[in-house]
Amino acid sequence: MFRRTCALRILPPVLIATFGGCADPTLATRFDACAPTEIVLPESLAPAVASAIADGVRFWSEPLSMPWTTTTAATTGASAIPLRFIDTGLFYGRYDDLAPAIILSSGVTDPARLSIVVAHEVGHALGLYHRSPDARVSVMNPGNVNVAPNAEDLAEITAIWGACTTGARRGMLALP
Ligand SMILES: [Zn+2]
Repeated sequence: MFRRTCALRILPPVLIATFGGCADPTLATRFDACAPTEIVLPESLAPAVASAIADGVRFWSEPLSMPWTTTTAATTGASAIPLRFIDTGLFYGRYDDLAPAIILSSGVTDPARLSIVVAHEVGHALGLYHRSPDARVSVMNPGNVNVAPNAEDLAEITAIWGACTTGARRGMLALP
């Protein structure tokens, strides 16, 4: 979900998930899939939680060769998206496109669900909007906690940013 969402945010998550949320606003900030980008985690996270978050990022970064990683110390030269947890029952996660930042509910504790919520919010950071489940199954279905990015989701990122070519791949292509 976004920061600038409508009044549905005051409804319980189950109702948001059922209703499908309201119209998406325009994203103020989105991040180039092919540019070095770091999701900056709180230093105090349990290893299992940090691992689940990294898994959520890898749903996109591995198949698309995106130079996106998780870290607790941002690197100069890379774009940084801070990630933090707050104690709320109003949403599973949201992408604050103004900060920008990824905010997760501390109530999402199951690693598999947490990975999906992270993948959904990273999808927003990459420029994707919500996709109604009536249109198709997508990681960007509102309230989604169990659908990982699928081939159509991945294709939408490539449509926005083009196909990423990693430095290693460029090096390999340069070889005779
Ligand atoms: Zn969302």
